[in-house]
Amino acid sequence: MVEGRHGEQTAGTFDHGGGVRSLRVPIPDNPLGHTLVYVVDTDRGPVLIDTGWDDPASWDALTSGLTACGTSVAELHGVVITHHHPDHHGLSAKAREASGAWVAMHAADASIVRRTRETRPERWYTYMADKLAAAGAPADHLTPLRTAPRRTPPGFSPALPDREIVPGELLDLPGRRLRAIWTPGHTPGHVCLHLEESHPSQLPGHGRLFSGDHVLPGITPHIGLYEDPDDATVTDPLGDYLDSLERVGRLAPAEILPAHQHPFTNAPSRVRELLTHHEDRLTGLLSLLAEPRTPWQLAERMEWNRPWPHIPYGSRNIAVSEAEAHLRHLVKQGRAEAVPGSDPVTYLAVPTCR
Ligand SMILES: [Zn+2]
Ligand SMILES: [Zn+2]
Repeated sequence: MVEGRHGEQTAGTFDHGGGVRSLRVPIPDNPLGHTLVYVVDTDRGPVLIDTGWDDPASWDALTSGLTACGTSVAELHGVVITHHHPDHHGLSAKAREASGAWVAMHAADASIVRRTRETRPERWYTYMADKLAAAGAPADHLTPLRTAPRRTPPGFSPALPDREIVPGELLDLPGRRLRAIWTPGHTPGHVCLHLEESHPSQLPGHGRLFSGDHVLPGITPHIGLYEDPDDATVTDPLGDYLDSLERVGRLAPAEILPAHQHPFTNAPSRVRELLTHHEDRLTGLLSLLAEPRTPWQLAERMEWNRPWPHIPYGSRNIAVSEAEAHLRHLVKQGRAEAVPGSDPVTYLAVPTCR
């Protein structure tokens, strides 16, 4: 936390100064603990940056936090969503229902929300099973996807936003200057929000940046493939992410207000750390590609927060997606290539001349 003339008001809320507060909205059964939901005062009532996980205890934390800030959920003027993930967008429908506030999201994430609401579960399970098979997943990993009861997984009916966040434009926050900075990578429509006002404690730099999951002080966000059963475009999410990181570094905000962990300063140095982390990861991957490997085989050998045999089922799918995102980027950079005729496809490092 940045110490100064502002401070903790009541448990779970924090006054960041200059008409910005944060609420800690818990994420049930998740090591991240909570989402930091920001409350920005405007001339027409408070605007939220993200809402938190859709769970009764989280809703209680959101509503009682707003009350502790001297306002209420009914007073909300708008809701700005950094990206469609359920720990950010989960409570948007309830917040809108309780207040009539608009909900804004970037078009790329809004189309994921639309697709999630429309895709039938069997289509989704088949798509995932086919994708994992193509990545070299073993048969025993695919069986649950091929035989699971076709229930709608939780979080599959998120709220449709009613406003679009347009990159580079100011949002409708009467009396404030909040500009949308498109930062694809963690999701295709992730945005950071730049509060173009001088820092309340006069810290050097340009305003404050609500960074969502794009830049966090102590963890790196997941960068996987942009999963879309209806779109065969070969995207490069890691390339998008690295470009988006540089965008934030150039912005040089005085302070970053992230959606998890805690606010921090010196954004350019954190950006450099993250760029270095990914370059190290890419280099490590290249050495694993001295012999041909499938994305699954790569994921098994990459470094995670625990050994592969201890990684739970769902997290393995996420890990393979992350391995594929790194592979895509290496291929795009011409540092790795698919082995012709391999099935499932294997990749090899492209030899470099020294
Ligand atoms: Zn996220
Ligand atoms: Zn998050």
